[in-house]
Order: sequence, then C-alpha cells, then structure tokens
Amino acid sequence: MKKTLKQLAEWLKIDEQLHEDVTVTGISIDTRTIQAGDLFVPFRGESVNGHQFVEQAFEKGAAASFWLNDEPNPPENRPLLFVDDAEQALQKMAIAYRSEHKATFIGITGSNGKTSAKDIVASALAPYFKVQKTIGNFNNQLGLPITILQLDEDTEISVLEMGMSGFGEIELLSRIARPHLAIITNIGEAHMQDLGSRAGIAQAKYEITQGLLEEGFLIYDGDEPLLCDLVAEDAYTEAKAFGFSTAHDLFAAQITATEQGSSFTVEGMINGNFTIPILGKHQVKNTLAAMLVCKAMNLTGEQISEALAQIELTDMRMQLIPKGPLLFINDAYNAAPTSMRAAIDFMQSTTIRPEKWLVLGDMLELGNDEQVFHEELAQTIEIEAVQYVCLYGPRMKWLYDKLTAKFDAAHLIYSEADYTPIVQKIQAEASEESIILLKGSRGMKLETILQHFS
Ligand code: ATP
Ligand code: MG
Repeated sequence: MKKTLKQLAEWLKIDEQLHEDVTVTGISIDTRTIQAGDLFVPFRGESVNGHQFVEQAFEKGAAASFWLNDEPNPPENRPLLFVDDAEQALQKMAIAYRSEHKATFIGITGSNGKTSAKDIVASALAPYFKVQKTIGNFNNQLGLPITILQLDEDTEISVLEMGMSGFGEIELLSRIARPHLAIITNIGEAHMQDLGSRAGIAQAKYEITQGLLEEGFLIYDGDEPLLCDLVAEDAYTEAKAFGFSTAHDLFAAQITATEQGSSFTVEGMINGNFTIPILGKHQVKNTLAAMLVCKAMNLTGEQISEALAQIELTDMRMQLIPKGPLLFINDAYNAAPTSMRAAIDFMQSTTIRPEKWLVLGDMLELGNDEQVFHEELAQTIEIEAVQYVCLYGPRMKWLYDKLTAKFDAAHLIYSEADYTPIVQKIQAEASEESIILLKGSRGMKLETILQHFS
C-alpha cells in the first residue's frame, strides 16, 4: 500500500494529526524484519512492551508508528498514530484498504489444507494475474489484516488463508476480507476442544460465508455431509461442491500417483486430464477447489492445465524427497487425525514403490480424546499394505499397543523420546524399493530425520 498518515488517521477516525504528509508503504510488528517506509506496530505483552522498540524502528527506517493512548512518554517529533488497541486499529485499516482495493479477494478456511489450497490457488493463477497470498501461516485476526495492508495497489488477486480456534473468528476475518470467493477445504477434528463436535467445527468454518460478497460464491468439500447440510439450509449463499462424487459441480476420478506427482481426470464444470507435481488424494481435492477459482476467473481448461503442471507447495506438505536410493515423503509440517489418515491412505494405495514405511510422530493438541485418536489409527493401518511402522513420541505408545497384535517386532518400532532407533532401522533395511512417510505434529520435528540421510 501507499498511504499518507493523514489518510490512515482518517481511516482510524483520529482527528488531529501531525506529520500528515508522511507516506506509509507497509506494516511491521517486528523491528528485526522492518522495512523502510513501514508503519511499526508495538504490542504490549506480558513480558515485553513493544513501545521500547519504537525508537529502534524509526532508526531502521519506519515511516511512522502506533502508540497506545495509555502508554506514557511518547517520543516527540516522531510521526505517531495514537490508538486504543493496535489489533483493532489494524483491522479497521484493513477494512478501509480492502474496500477501496480493486483486487479479487479469495478467502480459504478448513481444518486441513488451508495453506496447501492457498499455495495451489496462488500458483495456478500466477501465470495469468498479479497475485499476492498470505505469507506462511499469517492467517489470524492479526495476520490477515496485515496481509491485506501489505497488498500492492496493482495486485489483481489476493489469496487469504483464514485460521481460527473458536466461534466468531472466521466471521470476523471474512467481514474484513469480504471475499469474492470463499473456500472450505474440509472439516476435521482440530479444535474439537473449543468447538464441541465436528458439527461445531463445520459451523465455525461456514462463518466464512458471512462476509462473502453477494455476487460471489462458496466452494466447499462436497464429500463432507456436515457442509452439504449447511449449504442446503442456507438460502442466501450460492455454493459449488468439489470432491469425488459425480453429484458434485467438479469431481475427480482415476487418480494415479508416480514419482513425479498425481494425474487424474476431472468432470463437471471443467473436463479433462490434469497432472500436478504433488501427491495425495487430499491434495487433488485442494486442487479441485483451486480449479473452481480458476474457472471463476475465466481461465480456459488449457490455461488451468498448464498452470497446474507447475504448482508449488510450501515445504513439508506431501513433499517428495529422494535421498540416495530412498524416497521420503515429507509431510511433517503438522498432523491431526484427518490429515494423518489421508497420508496413511495415500501410502497404502500408492504404487510408486512397493515397500511402504510409516514413520509417525505424536499428534498434539487433541484434548481429552487424544488417546482414542491415536488408538483409532490402528484401524486405518492395514498390515497387507504397509511393511514397516515406526512410531515416535509418548502418545504414539497408545497406537503401538494396538498394533503389536498385528505387526511382528521386526516391522514395528517404537521409540518414546529419541528417534535414533528409527533412523537405524531405515538405514539398515530400507532400499530402492522403499517409500517412507514422515508425519507428526509440528512439535515432533520429524523432518529432522532427513538430516541423517544424504
Ligand atoms: P494449519 O491449521 O496448520 O494452518 P492448514 O489448514 O494450513 O494447517 P496445510 O498446512 O495445507 O493445512 O496441511 C496440513 C496437513 O494436512 C498436511 O499434512 C497436508 O498433507 C494435510 N492436508 C492438506 N489438505 C488436506 C485435506 N483436504 N484433507 C486432509 N488432509 C489434508
Ligand atoms: Mg496453514
């Protein structure tokens, strides 16, 4: 963006403003990464008061800074915007900037696949439009407004990830972003603790329709009955379903995986054969959502196909990583029951390589039912389809106890606090026949296993 302090003060309904000609070109909440021209936003946390970095921010080129009204001793002669609440002020500014911006806004929520879908949507559109997407996981009440405020004025498409941990949050984000198109990738079990049930989670995600523009539409996982029910009950929102059933507006079939990626046929609003350099049925679904966006942007099937052939995901999502003769799939970014099952299902059905290894780490933050969620994976893992199961972390002991009846000790490894025995097992027994999935919650850092292979 490019706005004078005068303009920002008007957005924030601040009357008097010194230094009103100063121009702000970005937002920063961290002096370590601040850029010249940024508006610095200090936060007052329990241990650190961001106001102590304001002077440093100016020295590093900040054009202006927020200053909380009840914070004493504001520096004189510095361009400051006095606000009551920094987060709310950013949200107000984002609403104002959004409403004057000409871009098409695309909001993406869901239990799993938000970042994947965001990356696929953005890289599918990138050859044809100027696209900006949420960086990393900047998807909450703070990250989303900042992402909007960072939009260049000539950006044509803004792809926004929307995350949440309770009711009301997606509604807020959707009302700020006012998306032309909204995607719900799927419904899982994350945040069960706060939302009570999967139906509660579906309802919380469905809040994305609250800010959806009237001329826009919802793109949703039609394979999820909870979402179908919400769509059926909603007389106001136009919606298009994607998934694997022929009843959907867009559906995929005949998915095959190779060491290069996935190929599949698509029917419905778009027809043809498509290939993406990513693995997993669930990523095919995220791609279907992205294809509906491409269609809404009036791209032809041929344009979509060319763009999809070169899409890229953020690291650690079903990423194929060859290490010498071994082939790893790094899906270690995170894990919850839905994504765990999706990755295991993929491994069990793939024909890329015959010898399948599952290296699974604890799923964290699952609340009271965490034991059940770990134990239930035993029903997903099929002894005929998988040769080695390596489990790591204290919670995986629950799954281990369920699997000892199915697997013999030579093919089932458990390690509570140190994964060295797992690394040694892979080094000793895996070969050019092996494909090895690494998956666990972020805190388990399973990707570090790769460092032991070259
Ligand atoms: P977060 O809540 O951490 O931001 P996210 O919703 O952005 O997560 P991703 O980072 O895209 O999700 O993917 C998280 C995990 O879920 C990955 O392991 C990925 O392979 C898996 N996953 C992605 N899409 C789906 C889907 N549609 N259904 C099930 N699992 C999925
Ligand atoms: Mg994400």
